[in-house]
Amino acid sequence: MSSIKAPRGVRDILPGESWKWEHVFSVTRKVAGDFDYREVHLPVFEHTELFSRGVGETTDVVEKEMYTFEDRSGRSLTLRPELSASMVRSYLENRMDKQHQPAKLWSAGPMFRYERPQKGRYRQFWQIDFEAIGSQDPLLDVESIELSLELFRRLGLSNLEVLVNSVGCPACRPVHRKALQDFLRPRLKELCESCRGRFDRNPLRILDCKNPTCQALTEDAPSTISCLCDECAVHFDAVRKGLAMIGASFEVDNRLVRGLDYYTKTAYEVLSGELGAQNAVCGGGRYDNLAESIGGPHTPGMGFAAGAERIVLTMEEQGCSFGEPPRCDIFVVHADDSSLEAAVSALYDIRRAGIAADMDYTGRTLRARFKTAGASGAAFACVLGPEEIASGKVTLKDLRSGEQQAVERAKLVDFLKTAL
Ligand code: AMP
Repeated sequence: MSSIKAPRGVRDILPGESWKWEHVFSVTRKVAGDFDYREVHLPVFEHTELFSRGVGETTDVVEKEMYTFEDRSGRSLTLRPELSASMVRSYLENRMDKQHQPAKLWSAGPMFRYERPQKGRYRQFWQIDFEAIGSQDPLLDVESIELSLELFRRLGLSNLEVLVNSVGCPACRPVHRKALQDFLRPRLKELCESCRGRFDRNPLRILDCKNPTCQALTEDAPSTISCLCDECAVHFDAVRKGLAMIGASFEVDNRLVRGLDYYTKTAYEVLSGELGAQNAVCGGGRYDNLAESIGGPHTPGMGFAAGAERIVLTMEEQGCSFGEPPRCDIFVVHADDSSLEAAVSALYDIRRAGIAADMDYTGRTLRARFKTAGASGAAFACVLGPEEIASGKVTLKDLRSGEQQAVERAKLVDFLKTAL
């Protein structure tokens, strides 16, 4: 019998990579503070209705990609496919409307979507999510876009491209929907099967189709911007002006409609240009009607989600720095069985002083223990044998130069603090 493997589309983040993730999260945490966003931790599963009503029944995510199950009480629950709906649910449930507005929140964690796995696309993937809930100010859209860019800049990403669009609101979207359907009707037979299905249910998504024939057929389709109502047009204008004001370069992309239904007005994506088809490192936008769709009062919001796997992949491809990997400083080596106790005691003194230290646990020969010490990447081996114990000293061996020196056991920790 072969051993059990992980399910398709999930991956283990092993120590060789996890320290890189740590770097991404620590930079994220700093940027979040600089933009005055506070961290929240939200549940990994929610009631299925949160996503079917919040994200939209006719989106790919809800129709085809959710991990939905019944719990033991027969309730339908879903592993979260995204975070905005949960953030808004939490905002409403915890009465954050009574606090300082907007509530500026961020969170990071795994999301789950039943998608076809490929490079940069997984069934469990991590998102870093920022949301500002409770204000319709276009300057908040500017802040959100700039926050994502600042994060990517601080991580060292280059070739960043920002695509911005406005997808309108319930007042102007029907006007665009009709104009788009009128434009597409004579071309309906030529569209791909999925787009023919979208024609009545969600024609906007046809603009987003990656099929080259559909893309060619929609080349001259009416844009959402051409159909905006006055309020949405004024808002979009203010967002563009705000971005120009802070010197953020961006491109207006009429095709950008995004996969989730809740977007109103601003929608945007940041591309890195390095991941082929999966080149979006972040996507976001305004969702002024999301709160209402999940049963709350009208509450505007704006946010984005960035994929952690894609960030790390792109950073690797671009040769960005992740800082230094963690390493063990001291490897304690006992010369023989009689010196084990003294070695263990030294090991814990060193650790308790906040210095990273380790020892060999495989109980092999002294030679093998030195080999492990060398492979550990530690700066020094701290050797204790009968001679050292008798003289109240330890032998410190510099594992790079091979130089040795005797250090008084009682002064070992102080010595290491200055030597490292
Ligand atoms: P979305 O929630 O679809 O707007 O996605 C926001 C960001 O999450 C994307 O720009 C990606 O960086 C990332 N992302 C979305 N789906 C996946 C996936 N299946 N695997 C890895 N990253 C993903």
